[in-house]
Amino acid sequence: MSIETREPQARHVAQSRRCPICDGPAETLWCLHEFTYGVGDEAVELSADLPYGRCEACDFEFLDSDGERCKHEAVCKHLGVLSPWEIKDIRLRYSMNRAEFARLSGLGEATLARWENGTVTQNRANDRYLRLLAQPGGIDRLLAAMQSATSGARKAALSTRRFRAVRITDELRQEQRIFELRKVA
Ligand SMILES: [Zn+2]
Repeated sequence: MSIETREPQARHVAQSRRCPICDGPAETLWCLHEFTYGVGDEAVELSADLPYGRCEACDFEFLDSDGERCKHEAVCKHLGVLSPWEIKDIRLRYSMNRAEFARLSGLGEATLARWENGTVTQNRANDRYLRLLAQPGGIDRLLAAMQSATSGARKAALSTRRFRAVRITDELRQEQRIFELRKVA
């Protein structure tokens, strides 16, 4: 089984890189890379366009973290989950930093960073939650839902307080009665 993923995410890839040997300027080139993902019956052949650098001074060719991220991108596509760059795009669409997006979504800031860096892949539930947030108006709906939840909780707190006050009065009355009975006895 061979799945081709040829969507170079050029805009996410650094345009300037330095040669790790002579620190000279290196140009960015792309090559189609094929690799096996998974083991046993689950193994599939994936392919991805990977960026690599070529030093203009010494001709040294090298892969860097952008290449790794492109590989991870192909794996995410195969798994049917949002890729790190897609997750970052959702956040940036709302012009939020990680702390703001974490506060609003209820997701952990460190967790978000791991998903965006590709060190951890989100589970299905979180992937679907992120897809909902990515929908037009998704964040607005979440905000509206949070506001009604907050006002509901406030109302509940108020009615609970009132209910408690009544109960306390009843309890006090009861205690007084018991006290009076004891006093009589
Ligand atoms: Zn060089």
